[in-house]
Amino acid sequence: MANKKGMLILFSGPSGVGKDTVLSVVLDKDKSLQKSVSLTTRGIRENEIDGIDYYFISTLEFEHMINNGEVLEFAKYGINLYGTPKAPVDKWLSEGKTVFLKIEVQGAQKIKEMYPDSVAIFLMPPSMEELENRLRSRGTESEEDIRRRMQIARDEIKKSADYDYVVFNDDLDSASDNVLAIIKALDFTYKRMKNYISEVIKDV
Ligand code: 5GP
Repeated sequence: MANKKGMLILFSGPSGVGKDTVLSVVLDKDKSLQKSVSLTTRGIRENEIDGIDYYFISTLEFEHMINNGEVLEFAKYGINLYGTPKAPVDKWLSEGKTVFLKIEVQGAQKIKEMYPDSVAIFLMPPSMEELENRLRSRGTESEEDIRRRMQIARDEIKKSADYDYVVFNDDLDSASDNVLAIIKALDFTYKRMKNYISEVIKDV
């Protein structure tokens, strides 16, 4: 069978919901999947590694990359800029890979306009109380930042209506399995299978 086209998965959800944790389990369970490493102007957290969790860059460097056309999309979240480097995503898509973008809702909207075939998954907290608990237990944000993130979370959850799939993160193992089930099912949409179907009937 011919190679399948690459696929973009937009993975959103409020800060503290556990996107990184779920994504790391998903990538661990299916090694063929790829995760894009974003650019950010926010400060590095104690447990983060530059080049693995994010590329931590200055606002000046960020603006320089935007002006050079090196950023696929970017958005302001709170007081910081976040964006997706373009070159690696283009490369993975041309290799037929499934690429996860961990992205907030404005960025996801922009990518959906550029790549209408991308698939958007929203990771939902079991409750707002639980979300706040998770944000606090992380111990990485100031009180002001937690309040700001909780406010953004309410607005983001309202936008989950624009997503193709919603996965609840009440249990890490089932949340990651549910994300993998969505990815698996996407392999069998008619749109992705139609080339193979024409191969089957080409000599008939
Ligand atoms: P955090 O500071 O908690 O790591 O991320 C804050 C928000 O920025 C999260 O909702 C996260 O998904 C989003 N984000 C991370 N990388 C990108 C990106 O490349 N583009 C956009 N638009 N949002 C991102």
